[in-house]
Amino acid sequence: MEGALTARDRVGIQDFVLLDETTEEAFINNLKKRFTNDLIYTYIGTLLVSLNPYKELDIYSSKQMDIYMGVNFFELPPHYALADNAYHTMLTEYNNHFILISGESGAGKTEASKKILQYYAVSCPSTTLLNTVRDKMLMSNPVLEAFGNAKTLKNDNSSRFGKYMDIQFDSQGDAVGGHILNYLLEKSRVVHQNHGERNFHIFYQLVEGAGDNLLQQLGLERDCQLYKYLTQGECATVPSINDKNDWKTVKNALQVVNIDETYNNHLFSIVASVLHLGNLEFSPDGKGLATLSSNSNELRWVSDLLGVDAQKLHEGFTFKKIEAKNDQILSPFTIDHAIYARDALAKAIYGLTFTWLVNRINESMENTDPSRKTVIGLLDIYGFEVFYVNFEQFCINYCNEKLQQLFIQLTLKAEQEEYEAEGIEWEPVQFFNNKIICDLVEEKHRGIIAILDEECLRPGDATDLTFLERLEDKMANHPHFVHKLADKMTRKTLERGDFRLLHYAGEVTYCVVFLDKNNDLLYRTIKDVATQFKSSLLKLTEILMAKEAWYIRCLKSNESKQKQFDEALVRHQVKYLGLMEHLRVRRAGFAYRRKYDVFLQYKPLCPATWPHWRGDPADGVEVLVQHLGYLPNEYKMGSKIFIRHPRTLYATEDAFER
Ligand code: ATP
Ligand code: MG
Repeated sequence: MEGALTARDRVGIQDFVLLDETTEEAFINNLKKRFTNDLIYTYIGTLLVSLNPYKELDIYSSKQMDIYMGVNFFELPPHYALADNAYHTMLTEYNNHFILISGESGAGKTEASKKILQYYAVSCPSTTLLNTVRDKMLMSNPVLEAFGNAKTLKNDNSSRFGKYMDIQFDSQGDAVGGHILNYLLEKSRVVHQNHGERNFHIFYQLVEGAGDNLLQQLGLERDCQLYKYLTQGECATVPSINDKNDWKTVKNALQVVNIDETYNNHLFSIVASVLHLGNLEFSPDGKGLATLSSNSNELRWVSDLLGVDAQKLHEGFTFKKIEAKNDQILSPFTIDHAIYARDALAKAIYGLTFTWLVNRINESMENTDPSRKTVIGLLDIYGFEVFYVNFEQFCINYCNEKLQQLFIQLTLKAEQEEYEAEGIEWEPVQFFNNKIICDLVEEKHRGIIAILDEECLRPGDATDLTFLERLEDKMANHPHFVHKLADKMTRKTLERGDFRLLHYAGEVTYCVVFLDKNNDLLYRTIKDVATQFKSSLLKLTEILMAKEAWYIRCLKSNESKQKQFDEALVRHQVKYLGLMEHLRVRRAGFAYRRKYDVFLQYKPLCPATWPHWRGDPADGVEVLVQHLGYLPNEYKMGSKIFIRHPRTLYATEDAFER
């Protein structure tokens, strides 16, 4: 007993539910002990908490994976067990699952999702044919990361798009197909990067890694410094990134996902055309209107690579055609407009290319026999950020609010409501419900998106500032909208044109450059994005709600990307992710619940129910749980069976399997 206590003191415990006390102090101490011992995963019941180690751990080998296959949830240290459990539940219950991986930027979501995918790739029974589907799923990662990830201040490999991937399994548990849904790529990065940040990896990989011949065909030089779109952040080279090697990986991965040499040529022509576009320069004529700088031969390259007439391109950058009655009037651009048109084209073609890539990958992973399949969905979306202030960031943070809301609905709220409905005695746990912030953004007629829409449609002179005024006006008393007057009292300056929201994860100041009525394209794009994004999130929520949920909450251990435990930072995340509340609900409640007919799968454990239970399923379950030795206070019978600590069940199940 003493020995066990010593070990527990030293390395902490692997399930927070078993902590002696549920204080935040005890929680943080346990995390810290485990982190110091390189134990980065800890359960709260069936939820997995992961703390970014910022160092390679020797726990992801295929030998490790073998150990986890088919064992029961609480038997081994938390790690692959969640992935394995979702998989086995899917196989025994023939239902669909999803794993929601959340946490702020740099917390380790993408790494976790890759580890899970690898686990499934290795754990399924194998045949040569199916191996190809698996390879495609695995290789979709380097391709999408090259085109959709970038170095940011928070993370050298930050996902700049949201990704939901369904892995489809047949009844034998073999991966037979995959499908990816992508969300809102941060296209503004193509034309603008903050200091200390880069454009998407693929640009640097191409310039650093492509052979001389290819570079020549694309009109590129092997020097990132020559390209305006690559140098704004002043960090084209990153110590942790080897663009040259990554290029080889990506080229190989492209082959695996059926993007062959012909497609490669088109693909890289487009990537190169973006770099040439970025170097197009404009100078003012006598009236201050834009003309293309004569020394630039970049236009020819853009025209050649995209197969678009150079004259037409030129016109597109310097004029707008306005239809008036039966006439066409050419309205010349100022320099700002010309630059805007150039950047809009670069963003649009990059965005379309990304969508094309996702579609191609989906075709390559398509399940050829969809007759019998169950799925496990993996959701890895860009993390919450307080750093950026642009419109895309607004959408990203809104998305994180929605996912937090989903988590609350599916765990805290639903859990407590279910106890109430089932008449199970229950001490309610208080938690912060971020629905109020979701409503602030998305509510019909009153939310920020609705006001933005209205401003876009309002005839006349709507601008960023009129939009802001309406926000200030409508949201004046909202507790999560920082009004400029209230802000004076907190003495934090709110610049003209900014607004500030109190998100569940912290305060973020946004700069309103959303609306620009002079800029038809921007204006239409923003409106469509906001509304489309809202409805695609709604769809995603529906997809997820129809599945059984598993959660991984990723925590960032420190801001300096090193192996350190920054207590204040970890505490902040534990708070806003609602982990303490989750723990309290878990401890107070019944961690395991199943419908009676599903639970009867355990009937081989009890002679009275095996092999055929012919009576009412609920009666069978009662016989079964009593046979398994559960005491009356350890389970409850409502519309289904509730068991306080599934541990006993898993242990029994395990004994049975052996
Ligand atoms: P974002 O929201 O910006 O995409 P993220 O949560 O997806 O962030 P990751 O890219 O998964 O973050 O992780 C950031 C970095 O942290 C990784 O590049 C890696 O260096 C390190 N890291 C994360 N998880 C692990 C792990 N399990 N083992 C070792 N290092 C890790
Ligand atoms: Mg990521």
